[in-house]
Amino acid sequence: MSADLTRSTAAELASAIASGETSSVEVTQAHLDRMAAVEPAVHAFLHVDGERALAAAARVDADRADGKPLGPLAGVPVALKDVLTYAGAPTTCGSRVLEGWVPPYDATVTRRMLDAGLVILGKTNLDEFAMGSSTENSAYGPTHNPWALDRIPGGSGGGSAAAVAAYEAPLAIGTDTGGSIRQPASVTGTVGIKPTYGGTSRYGLVALASSLDQPGPCARTVLDAALLHTVIAGHDPLDSTSIDAPVPDVVGAARSGDVRGMKIGIVRELGGEGYAPGVEQRFREAVEVLSSLGAEVVEVSCPHFSYALPAYYLVLPSEASSNLAKFDGMRFGLRAGDDGTRSAEEVMGLTREAGFGAEVKRRIILGTYALSSGYYDAYYGQAQKVRTLVTRDFEAAFAAVDVLVSPSTPTTAFRLGEKVDDPIAMYLNDLCTIPSNLAGNASASFPVGLAPEDGLPVGLQVMAPPLADDRLYRVGAALERALQERWGGPLLAQAPELATLVEGVAR
Ligand code: GLN
Repeated sequence: MSADLTRSTAAELASAIASGETSSVEVTQAHLDRMAAVEPAVHAFLHVDGERALAAAARVDADRADGKPLGPLAGVPVALKDVLTYAGAPTTCGSRVLEGWVPPYDATVTRRMLDAGLVILGKTNLDEFAMGSSTENSAYGPTHNPWALDRIPGGSGGGSAAAVAAYEAPLAIGTDTGGSIRQPASVTGTVGIKPTYGGTSRYGLVALASSLDQPGPCARTVLDAALLHTVIAGHDPLDSTSIDAPVPDVVGAARSGDVRGMKIGIVRELGGEGYAPGVEQRFREAVEVLSSLGAEVVEVSCPHFSYALPAYYLVLPSEASSNLAKFDGMRFGLRAGDDGTRSAEEVMGLTREAGFGAEVKRRIILGTYALSSGYYDAYYGQAQKVRTLVTRDFEAAFAAVDVLVSPSTPTTAFRLGEKVDDPIAMYLNDLCTIPSNLAGNASASFPVGLAPEDGLPVGLQVMAPPLADDRLYRVGAALERALQERWGGPLLAQAPELATLVEGVAR
């Protein structure tokens, strides 16, 4: 274990806490100190409750002293995307409309982490209602990429990825509706997993698009992600789409990393023109590594993936327009214009006008239009048919190969402000990640190096069949081991010290 506790992995911290080499209070305090030092530059968090975290840590330490059995991640700090409820802590979803709302209940993901003894540090920043690819749509200001503070940390879960990359937390929870765990992982050099749809519970997750949303782990190592995955996954009767099946052995797969004999398919449609040269190069090299480790690599065609993005941008706004209808100033958070002279309907209108940002309004309008009678069949209905075709492409591909791979994102982290006024350019970030949300299969992003042209992280996406999440970890662990040998340590060790970056910005 590293002398600086914040540089240790979650697995190392858990075993050091269990053996008494360190305490959860010490570990938690080290991360709170790190946050105090780097948050002014990174802004990964919207809400931190150090006192509550230290109290939870002290309980784990007391349990250990009493000889009570500890879970595999007991005492380890974690950051929670601010779209999942944690009773007593504000949940804003990055929106003004929910300002001041304190949920009275825990999301299932939150509850399982608390029951396992994980220590929740706080809530992380995100694009408003998880709509975006840069965290710039947060009503509370953007998060900065720890690799380069003038760059985006990805989105919508930029806060969770940045917290992990900046050593503010060894673990974080994200949610992935179109790529919001994988794309931020890709651009911050971290590991991000979107479990099979129904593999983790959506109870207590403020819904963006219910048929696409899925919570999952963010971490610096493949094993850490697997350990967290195991804590949060599994059947939940409170979520009607939760799958009642055993959780795949992701920890075993992460420890093994054996890809001998595995068949890996490169998706022809996810590459080539429009992809940054450094992204293509690192992707190819990583695939060669897998092949040198004994995997069989073939090219696979998924012809309908080219229509996934337009289909997603009809399905998602349609579901979002319905899900967000409840934020009307009557039940949660903000209420605007209620001066005693206005009707309820006027107050609802003023609240939504004042409470929602531009991207949220754009999608509500799009979705309402797509669902309106007369257009339903032409837009929403058509998009659902495309969704079926994308799912069939996956089924055909998985009949021939064990996993599919592609770059996670077409480019590395772009500059803050660069795409904020161009929704289509922003949407194109999710070209590779969206198909797995439409089909509901498992998918992940793993760091595979730095693009030579800008020195920023590149991610490789691995896609596996539903309930075969363990295959993601097998491939991820194989890559991690082989590449770290090449790099002489973790990729994040090559990131500039944040102190240097902060000085650079000040100058
Ligand atoms: N960037 C995508 C979007 O804006 C993904 C969002 C997500 O996964 N929450 O919709």
